[in-house]
Amino acid sequence: MSLNNTHEIDIVKTSSSKINSVDFETLSFGSTFTDHMLVCDFREGKWGKPVIKPYEPFLLDPSAKVFHYGQAIFEGMKAYKDDNDEVWLFRPDQNLDRFNKSAVRMAMPEVDDWIFLEGLKQLVDIERDWVKKGLGNTLYIRPFMIAIGSGVIAAPSTQYRFMIIMSPAKSYYSGEVKVIIAEHFSRAANGGIGAAKAAGNYSAQFYPTKLANEKGFQQIIWTDDATHTKLEEAGTMNVFFRINDTLFTAPVSERILDGVTRKSLIALAQHEGIKVEERSVYVDEIINAAKDGSLKEIFGAGTAAVVNPIVGFSYQDTYYELPKLENSIALQLKDKLTKVQYNMAEDSFGWTVKV
Ligand SMILES: *Cc1c(COP(=O)(O)O)cnc(C)c1O
Repeated sequence: MSLNNTHEIDIVKTSSSKINSVDFETLSFGSTFTDHMLVCDFREGKWGKPVIKPYEPFLLDPSAKVFHYGQAIFEGMKAYKDDNDEVWLFRPDQNLDRFNKSAVRMAMPEVDDWIFLEGLKQLVDIERDWVKKGLGNTLYIRPFMIAIGSGVIAAPSTQYRFMIIMSPAKSYYSGEVKVIIAEHFSRAANGGIGAAKAAGNYSAQFYPTKLANEKGFQQIIWTDDATHTKLEEAGTMNVFFRINDTLFTAPVSERILDGVTRKSLIALAQHEGIKVEERSVYVDEIINAAKDGSLKEIFGAGTAAVVNPIVGFSYQDTYYELPKLENSIALQLKDKLTKVQYNMAEDSFGWTVKV
């Protein structure tokens, strides 16, 4: 619907790159940003011309709706460099698709496909020196959209800003992860916004997660809001359970984020002949499986960590430890997926996109 049919992006390059002042060995996740960012504003019913320009703060009116009504959505994706210095994106079409679904749910405008995809490619291309070689090194990419129209009246904004910022990252290691199964708090509800990557979903998790941290747990396994009997996600990741040699994960629903890592792991597992069942996973059956020894693994799945093994969980003040395995399916799948992302293994699904 854009009237900008030229598909052109204005580019203003920085005169002084920060790259030589960055220690790529000691990066802490999401805190260092590259030299440039992409900005594109939506006004009077259409998207303007995207601009790639030096990374810098910007001014907003204090009454901007993002501050008061939380119209804000985001995506998380990565760029990878192979041994021949080629830079790759992983399934960017999936992030675009999800971004626009989040936008619709938050009464925000969908971003034109070319602005997202072409903007992403050009920005990554300009910053390709920030993508370092070697497994574990990535460029984390954060597209997002906020409501910039002013006025403290609870109605959707008419003006929005779409941006992409990027942050170099080392592999994400969170230490041993112990989780607590939620008995009271919820991440999402039927009819709610849990399936959208909407900013408010994450702030709503901070308080229950802080309580879990105080008890010595790193994350929460969220249960369904109505009965707290179904295991749905782990922190900000999808979650898989391995009972004997079968993987189980909750089906995508209004309460479950449709993770790109989740669906890619399912496809890879099935390709490897590993059985995967997408169905509700009940607290009871996991407790019973932990007791009889058939529960082998629990792991989170998401772009930041790819796969995050969980060492144990607590439910109703009882702690259940998971076995330490020689041949973890989680780590096997992580290895397979990572190699596709870094163009080190055949991409039989056609997931990778060269920049
Ligand atoms: C982003 C996210 C995920 C993981 O999605 P990926 O596309 O795999 O990164 C899972 N759950 C929640 C709540 C998320 O926000």
